Amino acid sequence: MPEAAIPKPPTAIQLLEGLIKTPLYTPVGFDGDAEAQLRALRLTEERFDMYCPGCQAPATWATVPTQEAQELKKRTTLVSAASGSASGMRVYWSGHFSLRATCTRGRHPLILYFQTTGGHLEKSEVKLTKMGQYPSMSDIQMGDLKELGDAMPKELRREFVQAIHTTAHGYSVAACVYYRRVFEKVLDEAKAAHMQAVGMNAWPEYVAAKTPERIKMLADQLPEFMVDNAALYSILSEGVHQLTEEQCAEVLPLLRESIEMILMERKAKSDKAKKAAKLSSLIAKFPNSRPTGG
Ligand SMILES: [Zn+2]
Repeated sequence: MPEAAIPKPPTAIQLLEGLIKTPLYTPVGFDGDAEAQLRALRLTEERFDMYCPGCQAPATWATVPTQEAQELKKRTTLVSAASGSASGMRVYWSGHFSLRATCTRGRHPLILYFQTTGGHLEKSEVKLTKMGQYPSMSDIQMGDLKELGDAMPKELRREFVQAIHTTAHGYSVAACVYYRRVFEKVLDEAKAAHMQAVGMNAWPEYVAAKTPERIKMLADQLPEFMVDNAALYSILSEGVHQLTEEQCAEVLPLLRESIEMILMERKAKSDKAKKAAKLSSLIAKFPNSRPTGG
C-alpha cells in the first residue's frame, strides 16, 4: 500500500486536513512522537476551510473532540497527578478511534474512522490508517469541479471525476492516466481551435511532432501555465509508464493542482470572452454608439 505525503512535522490541523485527503487503507507514518501527535489530533479544537458537500459550497469547519478523547484526557490528567509512575494506568492515544468536525454554516458532520498499526512501544513504527470517512474524499473534491464550471465540458469532467475517484481508492497510476487524458484533451481542443481559426483541414507537422513541440506550436491557444510548464506532461507520462503506485501517490497532489491551474486559466479566459461579448452587444444597442457620420 502506498504511503501518503503529509507535511512533517505537521500541526494537528495540518495532519487532519492531510488525512481527509488521504485514500482509505493507506498507512500514514509519523515524524517524531506518534502518541503526542495522536493526542493533539484527537483533542484539537480548531477551524479549517474546506468544501462542504452538504452546503454545496466552500465552508469553515470546526473540529469537535469525541467523548472518548475527552475521557482519555481526564485520565491522563489523573495519571500525571499521581506522578505518572503507575505504568498499568498509562493512557494510549493509539488504537481505533474517530475524529469529528462540523460545518459551521449548515452543521453538516464530517466523520473519519482510524486504526493504528505497528505496536504501541515502537512509536516510530506506528502508522495511522483511515478505514472510513463521511462525506467521502470524492464528494469533497467534487466541490472543486463546481468552481471550475464552464471550464469543464462533459468529456473533460468525466476524466477529472475518474481521476478523483481512483485517487480516493488508492489507485494512483490509474489517476495519473486520467490526469494525462485531461491534459491531452485540452491540447486537442487548442489544436482544433487553431485549425479552425486559420482554416486548416490537416496539420501534418503537428501530427508528426512530439508533445513538447505540440505545446510550443499551440502556445497562443493554450493556458499560459501549460506552456510554461510543458514538463508536466513528462511527469504525467512517467507516472503512467514508469512510476510505482507509491511514487505516483507522491506526485498526485502536484499533478492535481497543476491540472486545476490549467482548467482555472481556461475558465478565466472563457469568462472574459463571454463578458466581452455581452458588453459589446449592449454597447451596440446603445443609440449613441451608432456611427453618426460626422
Ligand atoms: Zn455544510
